[in-house]
Amino acid sequence: MNKFRLFVDNPEPKILCLGAHSDDIEIGCGGTILRLVQEYPRAEFHWVVFSARDQRAQEAYKSAESFLGKVNSKSIHVEKFRDSYFPYIGASIKDYFVDLKKEFSPDLILTHYSNDAHQDHRLISELTWNAFRDNVILEYEIEKYDADLGIPNLYVHLDESLVHRKIANICEIFQSQFEKGWFDEESFRSIMRIRGIESNSHSKYAEAFYCRKIVI
Ligand SMILES: [Zn+2]
Repeated sequence: MNKFRLFVDNPEPKILCLGAHSDDIEIGCGGTILRLVQEYPRAEFHWVVFSARDQRAQEAYKSAESFLGKVNSKSIHVEKFRDSYFPYIGASIKDYFVDLKKEFSPDLILTHYSNDAHQDHRLISELTWNAFRDNVILEYEIEKYDADLGIPNLYVHLDESLVHRKIANICEIFQSQFEKGWFDEESFRSIMRIRGIESNSHSKYAEAFYCRKIVI
């Protein structure tokens, strides 16, 4: 299979990671971020979690630091927009996007899936497309009770070592989430195994994305 490179002749890509809640970015595309950091150590990352307070905010900072490691440049922002109410406070979140666009012009944006069943996730996806019109946008997926997984069209292969690091980081850092029945190593590994099958990954694992458009 012909493999597509995201950054050609650009050793210092600017990458914007957007997540509605603490742990969304990591669950949806943590392995891809670890791979990007490994392959582009001179990259510049801008990381935004829109809603996290108290322990969840501490976990969000700690996790972003852990996933981004020693990358050349990182800027981590954990905001306090009201969890589960994003569509009803959309104006203030849209204002945030307007400022964000002035501040950072990314080569790649990792954001929520536009058909995600969670209303906060959907709004972040919608405003991403609304604000950024000259950038590559990939939408990541998050498995959940609502059964909203679709048929993705872009895959990132992940070595076992990256898969292990992704899962270990999430399980070690997001201690507040263990009361949730689905929050365990098996669920994180299983979705990556399925996406690995779909993309013929020799390492067995992959993360999958929705790429609405790409311009060559
Ligand atoms: Zn979320």
